[in-house]
Amino acid sequence: MDRKVDLEVALSSIRNSIQETAVACGRRPEDVTLVAASKTVEPDRLQSAIDLGQRIFGENRLEEARSKWPELLQANPGIKLHMIGPLQSKKARDAVALFDVIQSVDRLSLAAAIAKERDRQGRSPAICIQVNTSYEPQKSGVLPEQADGLISECRDQLGLHVVGLMCIPPAEGEPVDDFRKLASIAQQNGLSVLSMGMSQDFALAISHGATHVRVGSAIFGARKPLSI
Ligand SMILES: *Cc1c(COP(=O)(O)O)cnc(C)c1O
Repeated sequence: MDRKVDLEVALSSIRNSIQETAVACGRRPEDVTLVAASKTVEPDRLQSAIDLGQRIFGENRLEEARSKWPELLQANPGIKLHMIGPLQSKKARDAVALFDVIQSVDRLSLAAAIAKERDRQGRSPAICIQVNTSYEPQKSGVLPEQADGLISECRDQLGLHVVGLMCIPPAEGEPVDDFRKLASIAQQNGLSVLSMGMSQDFALAISHGATHVRVGSAIFGARKPLSI
């Protein structure tokens, strides 16, 4: 089958499944946003996804996003970009310039660098705090017991527009505990956005309150292995 047709089928199947899952758990489908996770996806495929109505994309690497997106954004008004990968503070300038949402804020130094760029550029991206719900040593994210502190520093000291939380459960194993933990920290802090759930587990995430699911391979097909 033609790659464009594949993409159309995959995208509409994910949309249907998000809708059905939301309805099945008594939620409104429009309260669940599909973020197309598009790391390694080439610009022509991104354009095809845009042509199929996709408007929100998540990227992992700043350099890659900077090489792919400016032209596409110019040609396609109304696209929103989310940063979903680890971010170095020294790249805050470029991240604030390009992204509408930065989902991967996990430490005060990065938050402070973002706040400085907000002041300099007059652009205020929405922020999610990434939480390392599974306590994996190699994984980004603030530890759950330190999340309240970081949230309040970002909101109250830096005045960042903190909208919610993000987590990436372990690749293997049962993500339910991660989803529950993230939902509970969000609730305690009055945050409405829960970015959780990927290709394998977005339906489960929706049933635990996800407002944003980040789906990559189920839309665009398998990626070449990518070192994170
Ligand atoms: C790649 C990626 C996704 C999407 O993963 P799939 O399993 O391909 O759906 C979601 N979130 C983050 C942070 C990612 O890096």
